Amino acid sequence: MPLVSLLLAHETALRLAAFVAVFAAMAAWETLAPRRALELSRRERWPANLGVVILNTLLVRVLLPTAAVGVALAAQTHGWGLLNHFALPAWAALAAGIAFLDLAIYLQHVLFHAIPLLWRLHRMHHADLDIDVTTGARFHPLEIILSMLIKFAAIAALGVPPAAVVLFELLLNASSMFNHGNVRIPMAVEPVLRWLVVTPDMHRVHHSVERDETNSNFGFNLSLWDRLFGTYRAQPRAGHAAMNIGIADFRDRTECATLAGMLAIPFRGKRPDADATAPVAGDAP
Ligand SMILES: [Zn+2]
Ligand SMILES: [Zn+2]
Repeated sequence: MPLVSLLLAHETALRLAAFVAVFAAMAAWETLAPRRALELSRRERWPANLGVVILNTLLVRVLLPTAAVGVALAAQTHGWGLLNHFALPAWAALAAGIAFLDLAIYLQHVLFHAIPLLWRLHRMHHADLDIDVTTGARFHPLEIILSMLIKFAAIAALGVPPAAVVLFELLLNASSMFNHGNVRIPMAVEPVLRWLVVTPDMHRVHHSVERDETNSNFGFNLSLWDRLFGTYRAQPRAGHAAMNIGIADFRDRTECATLAGMLAIPFRGKRPDADATAPVAGDAP
């Protein structure tokens, strides 16, 4: 299948090109039609947020040279995983593989909020004092490595085809930058769009300092999972312009907007008011 060999042969170049193109497009959109006024300037947040992206890219290359696609190729060769037990047409295996991985990422995100030790890693993402395109790539290196290992296990267990893995990684990267974007989408389009995909207005609710709002809208690509599992929340109570972004007890710029401060966030002491893992009345189980 030419698509598969094309994707596999140029995976790194494709990923880099997609990242640069989507990043540039979102940054331009944020400048032309911003959704809300930012607390800090780009100059105050972007160096650290982009610094962690470079660090993560280098780290993954060194520590996990076998990329996710390597696991998918091994699963295919050895007949591991659910999808390799059915003689599905290539397009159906591709679609099922992408949908399975999207569900796996949704469930993983719920776990990163529910388990206190995992929340310590994930709270670096939430400690961003604003939300924009760079937040979409701001994850602690330990969270990146752990989620790569979880993804490897999901690919092997589900037998996701290699092409689906490459497409999903491209899609996840692009959609994460899109749904963290500080962009205005026309009022007539947004409600229609969010029936299919997670929109910026939908994911912004997840970055609210209000704990019950943080514990909603866990999806990254399809909005289906939040609707299906009862974690969907349409809008923030305070409205998009007035809502507060971040974590209540992580407001210090040195901690939240410098590379060294951000990397130390998982190792800081417990802050009960900042603990998003405590259950709140009305939350989904
Ligand atoms: Zn989260
Ligand atoms: Zn986020």
